[in-house]
Amino acid sequence: MEILASVEAVRAYCDARRAAGERIGFVPTMGYLHEGHLSLMRLARTRADRLLVSIFVNPTQFGPNEDLARYPRDAEGDAATCREVGTDVLFMPPVSELYADDAETFVTVEEVSRGLCGERRPTHFRGVCTVVTKLFNIVGPCVAVFGEKDYQQLQVVRRMARDLLQPVEIVSGPLVREPDGVAMSSRNAYLSDAQRRGARGLSQALQRVAERVASGAELRAGEAVALARDHILDVGAREGVEPKVDYISLRRPESLRPIDDESVLRGGAAVMLLAVFFGATRLIDNREL
Ligand code: AMP
Repeated sequence: MEILASVEAVRAYCDARRAAGERIGFVPTMGYLHEGHLSLMRLARTRADRLLVSIFVNPTQFGPNEDLARYPRDAEGDAATCREVGTDVLFMPPVSELYADDAETFVTVEEVSRGLCGERRPTHFRGVCTVVTKLFNIVGPCVAVFGEKDYQQLQVVRRMARDLLQPVEIVSGPLVREPDGVAMSSRNAYLSDAQRRGARGLSQALQRVAERVASGAELRAGEAVALARDHILDVGAREGVEPKVDYISLRRPESLRPIDDESVLRGGAAVMLLAVFFGATRLIDNREL
């Protein structure tokens, strides 16, 4: 595995591979890799001849009071992990490689970026789209893999690639969970033991709602949100922590169009998305119903 830090070196590598007729698979990450990331890498490996992984904690997707400075990092451990999964190139650029001091060009997806995570983090998806576009421009992948864990991000990136005619296939990988159901996330490292136990309420709440819908019971969107909220708060209280719900929302899959509170939920036609704070740590999760 080659570890490269410069745009020029990655371009040279990728140009040579493409000239040899090879397909490049790409998985962009912010590092502190876990099984969720690895599953995407394995998926990319099956779709391409070469696997390129990037680790870049992208400053433009963090808001002014967010966790950019303390975002967990483990360059050596991540490199070892990438090697094990059969990564050909690990791209770890410094910020100066991707952003000129006077950079003033950004990529924005309008509607799909609004609401949900875009509400609390108004410049987040602009940062994601800008860095993903830069990375696509450097790597030129045939296929890029994104996780369903970040459901809104996935839809935003899909829309961007389609609208801008970016010559890359966007593939999604399923959300990977810990054995107790908690969605794997680099940010789980911030949680205290009690918060970590409280975090189980998120996936449980989604499961409860999914089961109710699957059972054929008549459940309105507003009732489903209340059910999920109550469960998350109950589990938190039991563990002695106070989860603060940022949002719990039912949306149409892919378009993320809102579902009216009075609408009766039908399987296959809705995804429940949520974001919950445990102290300063904000966790997200989602489930198609
Ligand atoms: P991040 O390093 O958090 O920016 O995530 C990099 C990629 O990994 C994104 O496409 C995420 O959606 C994906 N990812 C993160 N956590 C998970 C998970 N638990 N399951 C599946 N994919 C994930």
